[in-house]
Amino acid sequence: MRTILTFFIGIGLTASLIAGCGDDGGGGGVSVVATTPQVADLVRNVAGDRAEVTQILPANADPHEYEPTPSDAEALAGADLIVRSGGEVDDWLDQLVESSGTDAPVLVLIDHVKTVTTDGDTDPHWWQDPRNAVLAVAAIRDEVDDVDPGGAGAYDANARRYIGEIERLDRAIASCIDRVPPAQRKLVTSHDALGYYAARYGIDVIGAAIPALTTQAQASAGETSDLIALIRSEEVNAIFPEAGVSPALEQAIADEAGATVGGQLWADTLGPEDTAAATYLGSLRANTRTLVEGFSAGKTACDLP
Ligand SMILES: [Zn+2]
Repeated sequence: MRTILTFFIGIGLTASLIAGCGDDGGGGGVSVVATTPQVADLVRNVAGDRAEVTQILPANADPHEYEPTPSDAEALAGADLIVRSGGEVDDWLDQLVESSGTDAPVLVLIDHVKTVTTDGDTDPHWWQDPRNAVLAVAAIRDEVDDVDPGGAGAYDANARRYIGEIERLDRAIASCIDRVPPAQRKLVTSHDALGYYAARYGIDVIGAAIPALTTQAQASAGETSDLIALIRSEEVNAIFPEAGVSPALEQAIADEAGATVGGQLWADTLGPEDTAAATYLGSLRANTRTLVEGFSAGKTACDLP
């Protein structure tokens, strides 16, 4: 009798555990596809373990020149929600959505943040201002609440905690960059990817090796020689190559202008797993340390949370 009772209690427990797992949506209850590593990281922080997040772009790759694969279309076909960065960075998604036949909602984050327009073009690199990441996280939270209402409590708590972390880091970055004299805060990068970061923290963008919002453009010989002249006259200390983009042009420009090549910046991508820049917040920390060191020729360092 006791054995039978134990057996039934056992079945009851197992059944409720299984039901519990299903209710939580943990381990793949909701399937979200995100385009870029930084968007995928924002989604993971909100979704926690209730959703399975598939990231289309690998780490350390240039989103502007990404060519989607058949497996990307398969991932979209099985998605409950698609989250894209928006603008020229991942405009290849439209074609992919069409070919996959998915009817999942597509959340376009650039529509929920404060954008800047340069020469008539919307700058797609909005995540470089952490205050925009806060707006994006709120949009992701609202959307996953709709797609998976059972998880709303967890998503809201995750979003609140993560927004707190973003805001703490944003304040620390601002106070660290404030310690660099304004005349030394002069930025030259691979392409025009850090405009939002520069505007947020009071940095003067002198120019870019590729003077465009996309890495797909090319500098003319005249533009490159103008930039070299500007680097000399502005006494720019260092120019910064970007991860995922060849540094050859930066090296040539730095050599010609008598500047040094600073550390690599995480502009449009994140680092591989288990590296300091594998997360969005990690990339902001790494960039800030690299920039402050390059601006100040190693005289200022940052203590960041
Ligand atoms: Zn870019």
